[in-house]
Amino acid sequence: MLNRDNAHSRQLDREKRAREQAERLLEQKSRELFRQATERENALKALTQSEERYRLIVELSPDAILIESEGKIAFVNDAARHLFVENNGRMLQGLSVLEITTAKFRSQVADSIEALRNGAEPSHSEEIALRLDGSPFEVSVKRAFVTYEGRPAIQMVVRDVSERKKLESQLAYQATHDSLTGTSNRASLFAHLSKSLIEADLHGLPVWVAFLDLDRFKQINDRFGHQVGDQLLITVTKRLTHVLRHTDLLGRFGGDEFVIVMKGSPTETMSTDLIERLMNSIREPIKIEGNHLRVGCSFGVATYPNDGKTADELLANADAAMYRAKQTGRNRCQFYNSDIQAHLLKRSSIEIALADILEREKLFIEYQPQISLQTGMISGAEALLRWAHPELGRLTPDEFIPIAEETSIINRIGAWVVRKACEQIAEWEQHGLGQLRVAVNLSARQLPELTLSSIVESALISSGLTPERLELELTETLMMSDVALTQKTLQELKQRGVQIAIDDFGTGYSSLVYLQTLPLSSLKIDKQFVQALSDDAKHTSNQIVITLIKLAHSLNLRVIAEGVETTSQLNFLRQHGCDEIQGFLHSRPLRANDFSSVVKNHSADQWLAL
Ligand code: C2E
Ligand code: MG
Ligand code: MG
Repeated sequence: MLNRDNAHSRQLDREKRAREQAERLLEQKSRELFRQATERENALKALTQSEERYRLIVELSPDAILIESEGKIAFVNDAARHLFVENNGRMLQGLSVLEITTAKFRSQVADSIEALRNGAEPSHSEEIALRLDGSPFEVSVKRAFVTYEGRPAIQMVVRDVSERKKLESQLAYQATHDSLTGTSNRASLFAHLSKSLIEADLHGLPVWVAFLDLDRFKQINDRFGHQVGDQLLITVTKRLTHVLRHTDLLGRFGGDEFVIVMKGSPTETMSTDLIERLMNSIREPIKIEGNHLRVGCSFGVATYPNDGKTADELLANADAAMYRAKQTGRNRCQFYNSDIQAHLLKRSSIEIALADILEREKLFIEYQPQISLQTGMISGAEALLRWAHPELGRLTPDEFIPIAEETSIINRIGAWVVRKACEQIAEWEQHGLGQLRVAVNLSARQLPELTLSSIVESALISSGLTPERLELELTETLMMSDVALTQKTLQELKQRGVQIAIDDFGTGYSSLVYLQTLPLSSLKIDKQFVQALSDDAKHTSNQIVITLIKLAHSLNLRVIAEGVETTSQLNFLRQHGCDEIQGFLHSRPLRANDFSSVVKNHSADQWLAL
């Protein structure tokens, strides 16, 4: 019995322990469940919080943000509503992204969304989007894959870039176009030419590079002002563009220089007609602000592949040909050739040697006598500059003065000639040659130089010559290039007593009005008129010379005729009252020593009897 009781109580104990264990387990489990529930709740809370934060950020973003889910726009922020111009009637939500994309970009956009869904990295592109009213605008779009409300979605950040694009295209335009005329500028013309050469190579076709420079543009600018000059360039551009074919390209190279690239086509050969028409179009009078202007132009043409293989070479050679066209009379077209090459080489050799021209004392002056027709005596001499070039030999001023004029060396040369000529004349006086006058030529670059007066002053002081015995010779073009400045400088010199002669009269851009206003003392009739004198009294040249003499005298100017080579020219001039002559008939320009013997041996009577 006791045994049975013991067994029963053990059983109860076991059951109790088991129950207690089960209860502990249950409690443990329920605690764990509770903890898990709390954690879940916290996580959910955090998620909601972060989603809210995200939503807030998105809402406040200045960039337009759109979320597309299951093919439709599911969410947009304020900036997007604003950018795509939502209004009551039209909403973004519910539309397909393709409905706010221009047709051109639709397939690209669809592909990019598909790729993101398949795990591609976020993308960035520039596209043209459509506002809800259908108007297009340029945008930059960033797309990324996201989850939205538990579903896969595409987030798009859209920014309006139309202003930036406009600015970019303005900058690109400015970088490639000339701001005044709107044609291509130097850089883009160069790029176009280089490209044309590659194309021409492929098809075996020629290319012409034409360099064009307006004749005497500077004078128009100086005389009528920059505004008129600018208008002239604009008109010239329009006229050229009108004549050119659509395959040609015109560019402004700076100042009054233009370049045209003309491509040959397989069907037509290059023809000079085109250049002729271009030149004619410029020659037509141009009316600006009530002024009727006429300009000529000089063309230089280099042909690819014969005259150069690269854009640089062709441009340089076309420029050289243009320069030659200017030198040989302007208002014409010159094709590049090997003579020009030789001329260029000579020019560069002159440029190099010019640098130390004065140090090497290779310059010298020749003097050409001027004879008074009244007395038969030598009244003076014109100082004519010469250069004993180390390789090229003796050079006349026409060969190097224009090059020296492009650098400041002309001022030093000019000062040297004035001083040397004054000293020479003073020295001759000491040697008993009498009180001769000396005429010195001035260069275009010297006149506006403020130093001209002081150069003259110091030459007069160092030589001791009286100012009346120095005459400065200026050409018409030189005087007209800046009338106001010329007048002031010349007035100062005239007041000092220096004489002023207008040289080569009749060959330049003459305006008779200036003859009265400029402080001149003499007029030199150009040798071209003298040499054209004829036995036929009615010949135009004869009439011109007679008129020039009368005109000069009516203005109280002394008249000198240049280039007198024959006695019949001499007699004609004498008969019509010309004051002085200068020319090979009496003597060529002479070295100083020879000049003094010619003066000593000169017989006035013999001259009067000629
Ligand atoms: P220019 O002042 O008209 O000088 C007259 C030119 O005619 C000189 O040429 C002279 O040698 C030439 N000549 C003189 N008599 C006759 C003749 O009977 N028949 C012919 N066919 N020609 C004659 P050159 O010495 O070659 O000078 C050319 C130009 O160079 C000058 O023309 C002058 O404008 C310029 N020049 C000369 N010396 C200087 C100078 O020191 N400085 C500057 N800036 N220019 C100068
Ligand atoms: Mg002269
Ligand atoms: Mg002359």
